Amino acid sequence: MKKVSFSIKTFGCQMNERDSEIMGQLLAERGYVESMDMNDADVVIVNTCSIRAKAEQKAMSLLGALRKVKKKRPGMRICVAGCVAQQEGLELCERMPHVDLVLGTQNLYALADLLTSLDGTPKLAINLSDSYEIPAFIPTLAALPHSSADHIEQAPAPAARPFRKFLTIMQGCNNYCTYCVVPYTRGREVSRKVTDILDEAHALVDAGICEITLLGQNVNSYGRTNPVTADGGRYTFSQLLRDVAAIPGLQRLRFTTSNPQDLSSELMRCFGEIAILCPQFHLPVQSGSNAVLSRMNRRYTRELYLQQVQELRSVRPDIALSTDVIVGFPGESDADFEQTMELLEEVRFHSSFSFKYSDRPGTRSTGFADKVDELVKSERLSRFQHRQDEICLEQNLLYLGKSLPVMIEKQSEEGMVGRTESNHIVHIAESLACVPGDIVRVTIHHAGHHSLNGRLIPPQQKGAA
Ligand code: SF4
Repeated sequence: MKKVSFSIKTFGCQMNERDSEIMGQLLAERGYVESMDMNDADVVIVNTCSIRAKAEQKAMSLLGALRKVKKKRPGMRICVAGCVAQQEGLELCERMPHVDLVLGTQNLYALADLLTSLDGTPKLAINLSDSYEIPAFIPTLAALPHSSADHIEQAPAPAARPFRKFLTIMQGCNNYCTYCVVPYTRGREVSRKVTDILDEAHALVDAGICEITLLGQNVNSYGRTNPVTADGGRYTFSQLLRDVAAIPGLQRLRFTTSNPQDLSSELMRCFGEIAILCPQFHLPVQSGSNAVLSRMNRRYTRELYLQQVQELRSVRPDIALSTDVIVGFPGESDADFEQTMELLEEVRFHSSFSFKYSDRPGTRSTGFADKVDELVKSERLSRFQHRQDEICLEQNLLYLGKSLPVMIEKQSEEGMVGRTESNHIVHIAESLACVPGDIVRVTIHHAGHHSLNGRLIPPQQKGAA
């Protein structure tokens, strides 16, 4: 019997990427097969993001295109998931009658059951509850890869096996930054139970995963809003890092994202104490001006942020720091923006994600007066990005001549591509009999703005440098 095929298109952040994987794994376990061609799939899932206007527009335009495909193939089922689905709900069904299922962020795990109940009339599943519990979920090895349509039938070849995975440890957020939709679309902060997380981490490592990234909107507050242990005792994110790091066979551990207001010294010390915790930290600052931070409802100051950077660098001098910056937040003056530029000079981030502020439906800042002119926003963004690009290169040049461990991601005709512990991409113009996830040692001989080039150090010289 022909198996039902599915295809998922993901927009936005890593949380969405992981949610898409979970949906794929749930469907694979029910016998669906992944299709690489969306136009051919029996079930198409569009996992949307509303954090920025651009991602939302792209998802809407894909849904518009799918209307034509469905006209030709009326049996196709279209599901919209993610933050836009949660926010728009019924309105989305009215605007897009070709959509069969609108799936809210807390209804993810019910996807397979909901799909079987579809009868041609649009269905809504968008409950958002404060007492939500993230279900226990252990991916099976057969459902892990997303790289071939027939992966259910047979174990994947080693070269096609995934070697790193995201692992969600919490969902939602209680911080209500004034520009952010997350608390409204993903709900209040909920931490997963420690045992569920550790069971999933063990299953991933047993399946050959070498690198895990723990995911949450604000991982620093893990375990604060609901009990995560059987006895309800205090258990922090730092403890979770230590427990996951202790799993035999795991080689690299990362996490994202952190709000500076909840960053503890205990967590910063982990970078000096946990051997497999990669020296890479994404710490969103958003603005260098205290006045703007306060209007954003970010409950830290530039002084605290700079102090944290200093502490992190004293614990782990080679830590690579990245950040998020919003330019042109309502009320941001020239002087405010200069403070962001000064902070950039002071911290010298290895990389950053910077955006122009845009109103997002339902957020408090949408109602703020004194919006910044589009042209001014564009000029500020381009100035910030230009200087950040220069700093990226200056920081990358510091790696020249260094010998670094690189985890191989793929082989190509030009050689191999891998990643350092600091999360830099490294191109290696040589080949070696190895599979993704293997670690080789290289000497860096060239640095660009966004990547490095390295030469393999032959295994017998591994002890050198
Ligand atoms: S910390 Fe702020 S920006 Fe981050 S998810 Fe929560 S509300 Fe949004």
